[in-house]
Amino acid sequence: MNIAILSRNKKLYSTRRLVEACEQRGHEVMVIDVLRTYMDIASSKPQAHFKGEALPTFDAVIPRIGASVTFYGTAVLRQFEMMGAYPLNESVAISRSRDKLRSMQLLSRRGVGMPNTGFANNPDDISDLIKMVGGAPLVIKLLEGTQGIGVVLAETQKAAESVLEAFMGLKANIMVQEYIKEAGGADIRCLVVDGKVVAAMKRQAMPGEFRSNLHRGGSASIIKITPAERATAVNAAKVMGLNVAGVDLLRSERGPLVMEVNSSPGLEGIETATGKDVASMIVQCIEKHARPHNTRTRGKG
Ligand code: ADP
Repeated sequence: MNIAILSRNKKLYSTRRLVEACEQRGHEVMVIDVLRTYMDIASSKPQAHFKGEALPTFDAVIPRIGASVTFYGTAVLRQFEMMGAYPLNESVAISRSRDKLRSMQLLSRRGVGMPNTGFANNPDDISDLIKMVGGAPLVIKLLEGTQGIGVVLAETQKAAESVLEAFMGLKANIMVQEYIKEAGGADIRCLVVDGKVVAAMKRQAMPGEFRSNLHRGGSASIIKITPAERATAVNAAKVMGLNVAGVDLLRSERGPLVMEVNSSPGLEGIETATGKDVASMIVQCIEKHARPHNTRTRGKG
């Protein structure tokens, strides 16, 4: 097959591993920087150009679109979908997963467990918002944050009120979430490929820290997940319409709770922690499903 990987940088671990896996399995592969791709939208025959040349019609496209380039990146992916390429994850599903409010609303509608969560634009009554999610201690998150930055644990009602006031004063988009204390500073990353959890790791925060992000000094290890955790992760990916997803879970007294569903999960942490060749499993998923125009939406969404 002729496969394109949409990635800003060939040298990134995940991109390198996907290139390797494609080549090992006998495919032609090209890494394309989405921001350097331009498109002919108006004509009846959709085209994409890169560095002065028209790109061929790929059999499949692997999107590795960073959060900061979602808008343009999904437009480029949509263009490839219109040209008939099979997208590993569809542009519509990626856009959906990048909108945290929409994702959580969709997951809750389908009965997927998640921490009690409140969203607000600029409420008159911060104390009612706090009460709504069960009171302090609680977690306040900036929607734009990644790698644990902008995730704050407010231990008391007073602390929660002042942090919320400060964030709202800055016109930041925030969410307020029940603190899952019994998770013990750990979360579970499940890598879902084609309706199965193919690898799972536990991330444990440093002592004295509740955020388990590896960038915040957390450590990763292999973990055996329960059937309920497996079912929750698979269901969350399905609800989002993602063939490949990194589903982050917290272990709570009332079962697994989904924190986030990531449409471009990094491979380095999970492959290192589990020793599994996730990149090849992703390429095998493409081999199984790639046929011209085999998308649910053909980029129409
Ligand atoms: P980011 O997307 O920036 O990584 P997360 O929402 O994943 O932010 O939060 C970072 C970390 O903080 C999580 O990996 C988890 O360990 C911890 N955490 C987040 N939300 C909660 C919560 N409601 N209860 C307990 N711990 C949480």
